[in-house]
Amino acid sequence: MLFESYSPNDTEKVGEYLGSIANKGYVICLTGDLGAGKTKFVKGLAKGLNIDDYITSPTFTIVNEYNGRLPLYHFDVYRINDTDEMHEIGFDEYIYGQGVSVIEWANIIEEILPKENIWVDISKDMEVGEDYRKIQIKVNGEKYQGLIWEMIEKCEF
Ligand code: ADP
Ligand code: MG
Repeated sequence: MLFESYSPNDTEKVGEYLGSIANKGYVICLTGDLGAGKTKFVKGLAKGLNIDDYITSPTFTIVNEYNGRLPLYHFDVYRINDTDEMHEIGFDEYIYGQGVSVIEWANIIEEILPKENIWVDISKDMEVGEDYRKIQIKVNGEKYQGLIWEMIEKCEF
């Protein structure tokens, strides 16, 4: 599933729609270069979960927790040295817990991610424009298959 974003607000809207239909236990993996818009996407996701807090990247804390319609566990694993650090902060309890997990730089910890996940890659294309982003969403696993149809049919974007 491909969304074309022409502004930070567009990216937020796609995240917001995903947040509005997310269920507990969802694991959303985000990839893309620095400045791609991963945190922007998470801001939308939080909005869709009825979270009003100001969202910032937990680059130094690894995880931030927010409470909305469901808890949101926002990870940024850019600075971890190895996956042991993830086990130390209780990564498994989060991802198999009652909330929605979203992981910036998920590719870095690919080996410890659940096989079933939602994969969101954001990339720039300077030839199209400075604010243009390609948002590619793929789902892995049975439990997410319905989501694709829901997003295609209802994400008004
Ligand atoms: P990341 O978390 O991937 O490092 P951020 O979301 O923190 O990226 O920052 C993205 C930056 O790019 C912001 O300054 C934002 O305003 C800018 N930007 C420009 N166009 C877009 C777009 N279409 N989608 C998302 N961000 C955009
Ligand atoms: Mg970020």
